[in-house]
Amino acid sequence: MLILQTVDELKKWVRETKKAGETIGLVPTMGFLHEGHLSLVEKAKSENDRVVMSIFVNPAQFGPNEDFDRYPRDLDRDRQLAEGAGTDAIFVPSVEEMYPRESQIKITAGAQADVLCGAKRPGHFDGVLKVVTKLFHLTEADMAYFGQKDAQQLAIIESLVADFNFPMAIRRGDTVREEDGLAKSSRNVYLSAAERDEAPHLKKALEMGKNLFLQGQDPIAPMTDYLTKNTSGKIDYIELLDYPTLTADIQNDAILALAVQFEKARLIDNIIFNPKEN
Ligand code: AMP
Repeated sequence: MLILQTVDELKKWVRETKKAGETIGLVPTMGFLHEGHLSLVEKAKSENDRVVMSIFVNPAQFGPNEDFDRYPRDLDRDRQLAEGAGTDAIFVPSVEEMYPRESQIKITAGAQADVLCGAKRPGHFDGVLKVVTKLFHLTEADMAYFGQKDAQQLAIIESLVADFNFPMAIRRGDTVREEDGLAKSSRNVYLSAAERDEAPHLKKALEMGKNLFLQGQDPIAPMTDYLTKNTSGKIDYIELLDYPTLTADIQNDAILALAVQFEKARLIDNIIFNPKEN
């Protein structure tokens, strides 16, 4: 597996890969890899000749009081996991390499960022759009892979690609979970032992809420009660919206999503379902 640290090194690899007539799948990550990331590599490998993973903790998507400095990092471990999963190249740029000067152009997410995490983390999705736009151009990927775990991010990136005719496809990966239902996340290492025991209740609350909704009830208050009783975390939001428009008017798929702030980790999770097919 190649380790590419600079834009020039990445561009050279992209040129050679394209010259050989091979397609490129991109898996953007912030590292501290787990099976969720690796499932995206697997999907990318099955649909492309070559897979490049970016590992970059993107300062542009963290707010001033968020966890950029203490976001977990372990490049040696990531290298082994990425290679084991069959990644052809990892792109691990420094912040200076990605952002050598202050941007003169701003990319701003639209109304899809006014709800869920976007409402709680001002500017977060603008920072995501900034980094993925650069990564899409640098890697010239035919397909880029994102997890449904971060469903709002996925929906907003699909809009970016559709609205600006990026010559590529966005592919969705299912949420990979621990055996007890907790969605895998790099931030799970920051749960205390007691919080880790409580964390599977997030998925349970989502399932309960979905069932209530399908029975014609408003799920938000019962889910709030359930999470308040069963976890020590503070509920940041619980919302039910159309997916992927993220409007209140549910037409096809619905997303039931929540965020819970624990002592040192803010966890998010969601389920997407079609009310007409249930
Ligand atoms: P991150 O490193 O957290 O920025 O995540 C990188 C990519 O992996 C994003 O597309 C995430 O949606 C995806 N991802 C994170 N956790 C999971 C998971 N549990 N299952 C599937 N994909 C995930």
